Amino acid sequence: MNEFDRSEFSELERGTSGLSMADLRLLVELVIPARAGTADPEPAELAGFLAGVLTRDRPDWADRVARLASEADTAYGLRQHPDGDWLADLLWSGYYASPRSWPSVSWHPDPVGGWGDPVADAPIPVTPPSGLAGYYDTVIVGTGAGGGAASEILAASGRRVLIVELGGQPDHAATSDPLRNPRATAGLPGPTDPATAGRPRVSEHSGQLRVVLPPDGPYGNNAFAVGGGTRVYGAQAWRFGPDDFTMATRYGVPDGSDLADWPIGYADLEPFYEAAEHRFGVSGDVACDPWVSRSGPLPMPPLPRTRSGDLLAAAAARLGWGTVAPPLLLNSVDRDGRRACVRCPRCVGFGCPVEAKAGTHNTALPAAVAHGATLCTGTTVERLVVENGRVTGVALAAERDGRIWRGTVGTGEVVLAAGAIETARLLLLSDVGTVHGQVGRRLQGHVYSGALGVFAEPVQDLAGPGVSVGTCDFRHGNDGFIGGGMLADDFVPTPQLSYAYLTGAGLLDRFAGDLPAQMASLAPRMLRVVGPIQEVTSAQSRVSLDPAVTDRFGNAVARLSGSIHEEDRRIQRRQSERAAEWLAEAGAVRVAVAAEFPPGVPSSGMHQAGTCRMGTDPSRSVTDPWGRVWGHDNVRVVDGSLHVTNGGVNPVLTILAGALRIAADMTGR
Ligand SMILES: Cc1cc2nc3c(=O)[nH]c(=O)nc-3n(C[C@H](O)[C@H](O)[C@H](O)COP(=O)(O)OP(=O)(O)OC[C@H]3O[C@@H](n4cnc5c(N)ncnc54)[C@H](O)[C@@H]3O)c2cc1C
Ligand code: SF4
Repeated sequence: MNEFDRSEFSELERGTSGLSMADLRLLVELVIPARAGTADPEPAELAGFLAGVLTRDRPDWADRVARLASEADTAYGLRQHPDGDWLADLLWSGYYASPRSWPSVSWHPDPVGGWGDPVADAPIPVTPPSGLAGYYDTVIVGTGAGGGAASEILAASGRRVLIVELGGQPDHAATSDPLRNPRATAGLPGPTDPATAGRPRVSEHSGQLRVVLPPDGPYGNNAFAVGGGTRVYGAQAWRFGPDDFTMATRYGVPDGSDLADWPIGYADLEPFYEAAEHRFGVSGDVACDPWVSRSGPLPMPPLPRTRSGDLLAAAAARLGWGTVAPPLLLNSVDRDGRRACVRCPRCVGFGCPVEAKAGTHNTALPAAVAHGATLCTGTTVERLVVENGRVTGVALAAERDGRIWRGTVGTGEVVLAAGAIETARLLLLSDVGTVHGQVGRRLQGHVYSGALGVFAEPVQDLAGPGVSVGTCDFRHGNDGFIGGGMLADDFVPTPQLSYAYLTGAGLLDRFAGDLPAQMASLAPRMLRVVGPIQEVTSAQSRVSLDPAVTDRFGNAVARLSGSIHEEDRRIQRRQSERAAEWLAEAGAVRVAVAAEFPPGVPSSGMHQAGTCRMGTDPSRSVTDPWGRVWGHDNVRVVDGSLHVTNGGVNPVLTILAGALRIAADMTGR
């Protein structure tokens, strides 16, 4: 955490909120009373943290805090105030992001065996937008899972490839902030967020519209950077199974849903799953997944199980459930010029300091550039250029030193991989593929099921990444339910996340006078079991263009609207009960199930998918089975937008495999 800085104070005083440092300090003391004789972060430090948040991270919160300061001047008043919980969570987040609080919860950021030799940042060479050629054979939009995977094959085919990415290449230091990363819950922008104020979205919640910024939950953020989500993800690398491609046939289509089968089957994708596992490197042992048949084993053995993983594995055996060592896109041994994982406790949401975690930024993208591709970062594709009904180029926009640069590049083909929300938005902004009104529909993320257990003894050994045992028994075959999902132990939480999970589960009172003592006792004894459920999709859950709000470049922003289906809520409840049962069998003395996903909001976020689904009928899909946008044979989609359904497991391996399949089709290999 940054120490208090005078310039922030002055800026705050000059601002319109009328807040002073004394106001902030008073608010801090209402939530976090000073504890003499401890090493805890002090009120002055936390007031400085709050000042920094309001001046640098979220100036849009200053008025909200000013209202609180004038309306609540006692701890009781703050507790009763509608924004009291929010402020308490923010301040405790600052508290638990401070390294001085970490010993109190038995947490440290280092691997037990040390880091070994440091690994230097290795940014990929880039070309500024002003240095681009006028024409490229292929333009790839986005460098995440789909765009990155396709880039290597397309560049190796001899094409002249331009890869455009709106994010940058944040270094190891930038992607290690415990509060400013996509998994943290404090709402502060991180290095993989697009410039916060310039890229809002509109979220519709039960008919109410709200402008939201990248770190806000309803924004549906993934990661905007070279590597996209794969730069900071948790790297769980599950395959979908045969039933996941035929959900409508297997279960029927419930009223109000738009469930459909994929136009391809598991057998079509199996060779590309195999190729993705070997190209990017997956460790684990999934022999006991009853829903997936494989032509070969994973290329790397699993990491050792954690202490809590041992408890869960033994409990699963007593329950008669099968277990697997979850597949992870990270090296369990040195491989492909990258080091083995050193098991640090900050994996999901963070960059990997030793590059053991495989993302497209340290695998396929540098290979594509080595094959001659041009990478242009900090640049947005704002439109596809259409001439006489055919896409002939891309219109680019970038901001440099406060000035906007614009340019156009001609191309023979476009590969869209901007993520499920931005790919749909780009097609809508360009009016490409929109004839049948399908673009943007069937937005799905992953509703998560799960439970939190507290044990009598410490169970967290801080051995990263933390995910070490899962069960696939409930991916399907749940009588009376549609689909299901896998369940696994969660990643090692940071102290801030432990605080968020415990308060969220109702096991910790954010206004309790002895909260630090409770956290010291609960955090090391806490364990979560979680897993995504397969949503049944609805055409009403969608991305559309907002008619009123525009981004930094004057383009309509994405509006996210719709709702998950009641079936999704039912299976979420069922899976959460199972997670609770598993934790209880493992010895948890207190168990709380995950909150139900609210009605009136679509699910989106990190696992976003489905907005340009593939199919065989142009009136019910956006692309053909090869990702070609209907009516535009030189525009392909290769990202999560294509997913007809999103599986009951994390989606990235399917995105990687799907992109390899389409790139192979494009290059005839
Ligand atoms: C913290 C976190 C944890 C995760 N953990 C897992 C996990 O364990 N397992 C799993 O399967 N998945 C996980 N995911 C999700 C996974 O990362 C995504 O499913 C995957 O990256 C999606 O791939 P994509 O190609 O669809 O899009 P993305 O990876 O989102 O890539 C899209 C890219 O396009 C760029 N872009 C967008 N618009 C434009 C534009 N107009 N012009 C230029 N560039 C643009 C973006 O900046 C971004 O880099 C996680 C994600 C996060 C953030
Ligand atoms: S736990 Fe994750 S971030 Fe840490 S070394 Fe291993 S792969 Fe890298």
